[in-house]
Amino acid sequence: MKSKAMVLKEFMKPLEMEEFEIAPLEAGEVLIKIEAAGVCGSDVHMWKGEDPRTPLPIILGHEGVGRIQEIKGKKQTVYGEDLQVGDLVIWNRGVTCGQCFACKILKDPSLCKNRKVYGINQSSAVFPYLNGCYSEYIILNSNTDIFKVEDTVDPALLVSASCSGATIAHAFDMISSVLGDTVVIQGPGPLGVYAVAFAKSMGASEIIVIGGSKERLDLCTYFGATLVLDRHETNIQERNQMIMEKTRGIGADLVVEAVGTRGVAEEGLKLLRSGGTYLSTGYAQPAGEESIDFYRDIVSKNITVHGVWVSDTKHTKMAIDIVMKNKEHFAKLISHRFSLEEANQAIASMNAREALKAVLIPNRG
Ligand SMILES: [Zn+2]
Ligand SMILES: [Zn+2]
Repeated sequence: MKSKAMVLKEFMKPLEMEEFEIAPLEAGEVLIKIEAAGVCGSDVHMWKGEDPRTPLPIILGHEGVGRIQEIKGKKQTVYGEDLQVGDLVIWNRGVTCGQCFACKILKDPSLCKNRKVYGINQSSAVFPYLNGCYSEYIILNSNTDIFKVEDTVDPALLVSASCSGATIAHAFDMISSVLGDTVVIQGPGPLGVYAVAFAKSMGASEIIVIGGSKERLDLCTYFGATLVLDRHETNIQERNQMIMEKTRGIGADLVVEAVGTRGVAEEGLKLLRSGGTYLSTGYAQPAGEESIDFYRDIVSKNITVHGVWVSDTKHTKMAIDIVMKNKEHFAKLISHRFSLEEANQAIASMNAREALKAVLIPNRG
């Protein structure tokens, strides 16, 4: 049996279709027929060679939903249910070691130094080769945390739950509550959309989103944002003034950074009230330095700044739950669908910011 996959062999060059022999499974491994593979903003950075984790050659794609084709021996879901051939599943994109300092002592697997991530740091030259989701099939190793999902759900709806959704869940998991708070979200992409959804579900009273695309800001409004500020229609001072007016001169309780480009943290920190919290989720690859006045914007205001690096299995669960409760909303997040062969167009559409969320459907029909 063979699987077609789209392989990145050289940065900035088109992915190439390759056919892989599907290796015999080892104990606990699961062969998945991919039903939907998310095209993430990170994939564009990886394609450009901007993510230092990227080995070549690689099958991109760390966001997948698929059906079990084969299981070697027994494998259970995170709930302890036996998985069966034919089950529709989603999985945690990272596989952690359980042995390192972060896993054992910090109990924070998202910081595992041996974390393997499908489609991000696993080359297609490394056994069992099918290590990414831009593929007809992927082989999940025996330590992968797997969730079974409702058979009737559109698989494309859930792909982002394993990446942007889980990362934002991780961010909100770091704070105790947002009940009644004013939350400012910088960036209306998939991370920002999830941030609106989580802020709303946790009871934020005001949800303000800053972004540069009217379409994306409209989607945030649909998800529950109470005010959207277009970067092209306002400058930094005006946005700051509007947010201060909205909060009676106090500032926002919480700011969620979901952009990852230079200058964003500098603007965002100034929007916080004294004692406020800054959650930075957007820097998935190096983006240069920020110019921060620590005395004025952090120390003299008792500000808490939280870096948010990836996520772990608990956060994937939180993200799946929020998607399943808001299916109609999350359906609108998916702007483009492509076949596996069209993966290069999918990356181009994300790169040009035409697509908010593109999804590959590798096994049509
Ligand atoms: Zn991603
Ligand atoms: Zn570890």
